[in-house]
Amino acid sequence: MIQSQDIAKDFPILQRKINDNKLIYFDNAATTQKPTHVIESISNFYSNTNSNIHRGVHTLSMESTYEYDQAKDKVAEFINSPNSESIIFTRGTTESINLVAETWGKANLDESSEIVITELEHHSNIVPWQELIKETNSKLKYIPINSDGTLNYENLNQIINSNTKIVSLTHVSNGIGTINNIKKIIKEAQSVGAITLIDAAQSAPHMPIDVQDLGCDFLAFSGHKMLGPTGIGVLYGKKDILEEMPAYQKGGDMILEVTYEKSSWNEVPFKFEAGTPNIAGAIGLKSAIDYLNLISMDSIREHEKELTEHILKEMRNIDGIDILGPESVEDRAGLVSFNIPNVHPHDLGTYLDTKGIAIRTGHHCAMPLIKKLGSHSSARASFYVYNTKNEINEFVTQINNSIKYFDNV
Ligand code: PLP
Repeated sequence: MIQSQDIAKDFPILQRKINDNKLIYFDNAATTQKPTHVIESISNFYSNTNSNIHRGVHTLSMESTYEYDQAKDKVAEFINSPNSESIIFTRGTTESINLVAETWGKANLDESSEIVITELEHHSNIVPWQELIKETNSKLKYIPINSDGTLNYENLNQIINSNTKIVSLTHVSNGIGTINNIKKIIKEAQSVGAITLIDAAQSAPHMPIDVQDLGCDFLAFSGHKMLGPTGIGVLYGKKDILEEMPAYQKGGDMILEVTYEKSSWNEVPFKFEAGTPNIAGAIGLKSAIDYLNLISMDSIREHEKELTEHILKEMRNIDGIDILGPESVEDRAGLVSFNIPNVHPHDLGTYLDTKGIAIRTGHHCAMPLIKKLGSHSSARASFYVYNTKNEINEFVTQINNSIKYFDNV
């Protein structure tokens, strides 16, 4: 079992008071806090090692290159990638998905092609495809959801058919927490020869991921949602597919040879990492993975399941509450999205902030999903390794207080 009270001590920001109350941070699906271990690794890099990578023969450059490459190896191991060349550092999930749409998508889609996503997606896995279909005259199709926010798998073999060229879907919904059966969908896509992209922004930080077991072609996630810094993310891609893909951004470091007339590209993954990368970010991400591995991804999943079970039990006692998403914690990650009658989510969020509790309110960058479920917005509490049942108890108490408060204003 995770000792989350002890873990919280590693996070300086969690010692802060907000509006005279000890901070309860329940906005982890948006971004997570950083342990001293990660903060110090970035600070140490700038204090002792900082230099540009891959081009220098001096000690600092060689050390920086070594640390950057080590970070890539660490990410490869974290998701059981068969090699480090399959790991491309990006700015985050959004850039990873755009990279695939802009390169693989433009090279492989035409008017006969269909792209399949789901009704659960974050805007980052909708908008790049909506733009791509305009340029390629291809079609965008959606796997629908049931009223409980789970995917409806019934007509999968009609939605995914011989016209399908790529299936891109989220592993875990950031809006309502649904965990999708991605293995089932990957298999269906493989049966028609379609490529698959998994948006693991909300799963890689919270449960073990094994890309070889999943069999997906691409997988994307963000460092800042897993204790790492902002501005660093990952695109995993099968090496043979990456090798066939056109380059993304062009410039330094991604080239093999440049003449005044033309240029040729470096091998993967360098072909996709033009310019000076976020070296400190990669090093911070490596430290974050080291920290998560010490706890173990299996224990993190178990801890979040326990917290979710506890909060659902407590919140179901609140009169009239509408909890979005699946009933069972087996189908749900560590987040709860909800609405309370007569209290607007923004008002609730502001009230909770006066008590030191940080949650997210709004459409959670999943506007079509929240609308489909009959709302314009919801309140969302999302958990991580440092959150405790006591914090949940305080949260539920303050929700009940807010209902009384808004009844009287
Ligand atoms: N996909 C999902 C499911 C997300 O939750 C998020 C962020 O909330 C993203 C994509 C985009 O991630 P980023 O903003 O780090 O690029």
